[in-house]
Amino acid sequence: MSARKRLLVINTGGTLGMDPRKTAPLGPSALADQVLRFIPEAREIADIEMKVLFNQDSANVQPAHWDAIAACVAEAIDTYDGFVVIHGTDTMAYTAAALSYMLVNLPRPVVLTGAQRPIASIRTDAKTNLVNALELATRDIPEVGLFFDHRLFRGNRAHKVSIDDFDAFASPNFPPLAEVGLHVQVREDLVRRPAGLFQLQPGFCDKVLILCLFPGLRPEHLMPLLDADLKAFVIEAYGAGTVPVAERSLLPFIEEATRRGRLVAIASQALSGRVEPALYEAGRRALDAGAVSCGDMTPAAAAVKLMFMLAQYAEDTRKVGRVFGQSIAGELT
Ligand code: ASP
Repeated sequence: MSARKRLLVINTGGTLGMDPRKTAPLGPSALADQVLRFIPEAREIADIEMKVLFNQDSANVQPAHWDAIAACVAEAIDTYDGFVVIHGTDTMAYTAAALSYMLVNLPRPVVLTGAQRPIASIRTDAKTNLVNALELATRDIPEVGLFFDHRLFRGNRAHKVSIDDFDAFASPNFPPLAEVGLHVQVREDLVRRPAGLFQLQPGFCDKVLILCLFPGLRPEHLMPLLDADLKAFVIEAYGAGTVPVAERSLLPFIEEATRRGRLVAIASQALSGRVEPALYEAGRRALDAGAVSCGDMTPAAAAVKLMFMLAQYAEDTRKVGRVFGQSIAGELT
C-alpha cells in the first residue's frame, strides 16, 4: 500500500474564507484559519496542514505576495507531496502565472483555487473546489494549476471570465490539464515535467504597464508615459494584434518607446486565438515600429512574464525582447 500523501494548504484570503453572516461588503474574516473544518471528509484524501500566509481580498495582492507564496512552497517542497493555494478569484490568474515562472522545475503540484461564495454559506462552490483541488494536488501533475468548478487549468493560461458563475475561469488557448466529473480525467500528454533541479527564482520588476486600446484614445495622452519610470508596455490591441495607424496613430508612440529602450508587446482584447500582428497592415506596422508579439499568451501572463524577465535580466529590455517569445512554463504555444 502506498504511503498517505501529505498536503500543505496555503491560505491567502479571498471569498472562500470570508464570513457570509456579515452583511455586505464582504471582507477578510477570522474564518480563514478554520476553512478545513468545513470539509472534515478531506482527511480521507491526505494528511493536510494549513498555513494562513496572509488573509486579504486578492485585489490587494502585490508582487511581494507572489514572492511570499513561492518562498512558502519552496521551503516546504521536500516536506509535502503537493500544495493547494487558497486565493481570491480576482487576481488568481496573475498569481498563478507569477508562481509558474518562479518555481522552476517544479516537482510537485501547486493548485490554486478559491470560490464565488464563502465556504460557510449553505449554497457554496467552496467545498467542491477545495476538495477537488486537494485531490488533484495528490496526483502526478507537477505544474502550477488553477482549479475551478470542474476543471484544472494550467495556471498561466487561465482567465477569470465570470463574476457570478460558479464556472468562473476559462483557458481559451490551452486545454484543461484535468477534468473532474464522476471520474478524474488527467491529460497526461499535456502535463509538463521538471527537466532539472527545482529552483526558486524570485523577484519582479514593477516597471510594466498594461494599456487597453479603444477608438478615440488620444496618443498624446500616452506620450508622457515615456518619461515615467517604465520599462515595458503590454498593449491590449484589437483582434489579431492591430492598432490605429491612421487617425490618432499609435505608431509614433511605439517608435519613440522603442527608441528610448522600452519594450512594447502586442496582446489582444480578444479572448481566444493567437496574436499575429503581421496579418494586417495595421499590425505589421506596429512590428515595424519595434513592437513584439505576445502570441497566444493572455495579457496577464504576458505582463507578469515581462515583470519576471525584467527582474531576471537586470531590466535589460533588449535581452528581454529577444527571449520574450520563448515559453518559460508553457504560457505560450
Ligand atoms: N474579491 C474577491 C477576491 O478576489 C473575489 C473572490 O475571491 O472571488 O479576493
